[in-house]
Order: sequence, then structure tokens, then C-alpha cells
Amino acid sequence: AQVKEAEFIKSSSKETECPTEGFPEIALVGRSNVGKSSLINAMVQRKELAQTSKKPGKTQLINHFLINKKWYLVDLPGYGFAKAPTAIRTDWNEFTKDYFLNRKTLVTVLLLVDACIPPQQIDLDCVDWLGRNKIPVTIVFTKCDRKKKKKNGGRNPEENIQDFLEKLKAFFDDTPPWIMTSSTTGQGRDELMRHLAQLRLF
Ligand code: GDP
Repeated sequence: AQVKEAEFIKSSSKETECPTEGFPEIALVGRSNVGKSSLINAMVQRKELAQTSKKPGKTQLINHFLINKKWYLVDLPGYGFAKAPTAIRTDWNEFTKDYFLNRKTLVTVLLLVDACIPPQQIDLDCVDWLGRNKIPVTIVFTKCDRKKKKKNGGRNPEENIQDFLEKLKAFFDDTPPWIMTSSTTGQGRDELMRHLAQLRLF
């Protein structure tokens, strides 16, 4: 699961504008600030790759990165800006739903969940929606290096993860695959890449 090449290809504003070569792809989604850019950089072992999709005008777009000239890593817009007006939040939903429902080359969605905070309704809603639409999902818990702190509600990542998995049982008979990661320490990076390899992505 070595990443030899990682190249930014394009930003698209809808599914029909996405690349058409037919390479398999995995998409990353999660609340803004969940650590998505850091995880992308850790996965591909490039310091700045994900910065490309953080440039003004690109954060609300679908950003395709071609890995080893064989598969795409897709950075989707973050959700859950607390301050965004409802209209914007709804737009995000329609736009991303369209990608999920129509993208035939999508192998799995990596749904990023912050392990430092208790389960958030918006994340649970997102997993529920993906599950109901039969879109394969892998839960990637981020920031697992962070220890118990008052501002995290005095809880460890392990406690938040157990709560999250417990709540998922309301939506799934079988818990979807899940992985604990930290972009700071590199925890889970190899496991995640092995998991993707096993999905015949590369
Ligand atoms: P994005 O908005 O989802 O792309 O999130 P970023 O990758 O920009 O990260 C948001 C914040 O979380 C930044 O301050 C990062 O330094 C921090 N962060 C991201 N990943 C980790 C991690 O694995 N551990 C810790 N402790 N902090 C992280």
C-alpha cells in the first residue's frame, strides 16, 4: 500500500463534471475541522497535497487526486458548519448526495468522525443516510492521540468511539468497518491502507 505518486487532477462542482477514466475511487467526508486534510496528507505521505482543496473556492467542490495512476482519492466538502445558514447546509446535502448516488466507480466512503467529542447527531445522520442508500462506508475515527481533557468533556477517545459504535446499532445489523487513526502519530495509517487494498482498490 505504498503511495508512489499523488497528483491533483481537478475540482468539480457536480458528479457529471468528475473525471471519466473509470478508475476506482474512495471518498472522504466529515464535519469541517474533523482532520480530513491532515488524514489525506498522512495517507499519501505528502505534507501539502490536501492544501490544494483548501484553497479559496475549492472547499465546496469535489476534489480528485490520482494515486499511483490507478485510483482516486476524493476530497468532498466538509459538512456541519454551525454558522452556515440552513440554505447552504441543504445545498451541501443535495450536491453531495448526487455524487454518492450516481458515482458508479465509488468503492467506499471514508466517514471521518472526531474521536475527541461525544457522538454528534449530524455524523450519525450521515452514516444512517449512507447505510439506507446501500453505499459502503468505513468509519475512520480521527485525532485518537488526544488524551482526556476537560474541554473534551473529560472523556477518552475510546469512550467516545464505544458510544458512537453503540449508537450505530440502531441503523446497522452489522457494524461497518472502523479504524482508529491519528495523523499526528501515524496511528492507523497502515491499517487503513491495508483495508483499502483489500477492497481491491489497488
Ligand atoms: P479539516 O478541516 O477536516 O481538513 O481538518 P484539518 O486537517 O485542517 O485539521 C483540523 C484541526 O485538527 C487542525 O488544527 C489540526 O492540527 C488538528 N488535527 C488534525 N488531525 C489531528 C490528529 O490526528 N491529532 C490531533 N491531535 N490533532 C489533529
